[in-house]
Amino acid sequence: MQIDKPRSNCGVFGIYNSTNAAVNVYYGLHALQHRGQEAAGIVSIEKKEDGKPHIYQTKGLGLVSEVFANPKIFDQLKGTAAIGHNRYSTTGAANAAKNIQPFIVNYRMGHLAISHNGNLTNARIIREKLVNEGAIFQTSSDTEVILHLIARSRLENQVDQIRDALKQVEGAYSINLLTDTKLVGARDPYGIRPLCIGKLNGSYIITSETCALDILSAEYIREVKPGEIVVIDDEVCKTGKIKSYKILDADREKKHCVFEYIYFSRPDSKIFGSNVDKMRRKLGKVLATHHPVKDKDGEKVIVMSVPDSSNTAAIGYENQLTKMGIPSKLEIGLIRSHYIGRTFILPGQAKREVGVRIKFNTVKGVLEDRTVVIIDDSIVRGTTSKQLVKLIREAGPKEIHLRISSPPILFPCHYGMDFPSKNELIANKFENIDKIREHLDVDSLAYLTHDQMLEAMVDHTPDSFCTACFSGNYPVPIDEEFLKEFYDE
Ligand code: SF4
Repeated sequence: MQIDKPRSNCGVFGIYNSTNAAVNVYYGLHALQHRGQEAAGIVSIEKKEDGKPHIYQTKGLGLVSEVFANPKIFDQLKGTAAIGHNRYSTTGAANAAKNIQPFIVNYRMGHLAISHNGNLTNARIIREKLVNEGAIFQTSSDTEVILHLIARSRLENQVDQIRDALKQVEGAYSINLLTDTKLVGARDPYGIRPLCIGKLNGSYIITSETCALDILSAEYIREVKPGEIVVIDDEVCKTGKIKSYKILDADREKKHCVFEYIYFSRPDSKIFGSNVDKMRRKLGKVLATHHPVKDKDGEKVIVMSVPDSSNTAAIGYENQLTKMGIPSKLEIGLIRSHYIGRTFILPGQAKREVGVRIKFNTVKGVLEDRTVVIIDDSIVRGTTSKQLVKLIREAGPKEIHLRISSPPILFPCHYGMDFPSKNELIANKFENIDKIREHLDVDSLAYLTHDQMLEAMVDHTPDSFCTACFSGNYPVPIDEEFLKEFYDE
């Protein structure tokens, strides 16, 4: 069986020692909705009076509010510990239901449920080996490999089994595991995707982004470190000392996904030790420094974002223009309808084209006869940008300039971000930036260069990032067969 093209980016949320475990996961998943909008699931564990743990689950396709629309669901999701997952995947609908996480198995140590954000790069090889040894897989997801490896470990202690399994997998993973007696969080040794720990009264939370802590007014404790396994159990709740284990004996160089700062994480989150808002503003500032726009008649340039993801970069851009003495004004030139999903993550080209007009409308009064600079965080296929420029032209601006707060995306991501195949990326379709400019019908187009992007990553050393989708320099080796599948599609 072929593994799904694992182009999903997901959100995970787990809580331990909470009287409202499943409800709290529900709120956490709401805050993480931007990380996956196709499906959601919650698994909870309850210890009954007979001492036996019971496991409950609700999963479904759709937004969190749709999957958990009936409040009675929470009467069934009993227990004081729960994990949840938001999923986005481009896999076919026929396969979608069985691939909704958290996945559950029951093995000799009891129940085990998993939520995973990221993508394992050697899952196909491990899976083939396990299948040859008699393993039966229930899903086509790479995540299930982790469950099999844990269940097949010959070690006796459950944390040792988890460590044993994680030593064998490569790629990106920020995971939550729920067992009968503990909540476990783990992050790959490169720290590609974010994962943090929080506390809510006597409960502990492990989740993708801090915005999921804020929604519950939970306290941020710290990140799960790259290559770390953290364990929360009854003892931790009593002592307040989080149990921590290393996956590998030796640390690896950090390779955080730079795209989390550029686009994916929420600006109100803190990830990789820095506020996303700060990094995104800085990207805008660097963009203005290297690629400013002036009005030819000396009037104020109108700086506008493509809401919401480039709002913060637009603020940084306009601030910097002002500092440089260039007359400018930040304006809301596009109004976004909040009642449909991101066009970037709507599957299917036709839907995406229609999506732009459904999603945005222009504020003609601020654009007419003005020099307009649109700030966007990235261009993937270019379909949205082209449609947006067309919309903005209809408002009658003098000139339209497009500034992108990242470099051209030239390569697909194999660590859990949804990019299309190489040939669909606009930067590969055209031989240079000027040809893209012509295609998008803007007066000028500029991206950040790779070095300029890293210049904006204050607080971090430039080599602590994965930049593979811009540079082709993949920090974790990619399985060749997997690559072939990806490029052949
Ligand atoms: S390839 Fe790009 S999107 Fe994927 S992890 Fe690296 S920087 Fe992030």
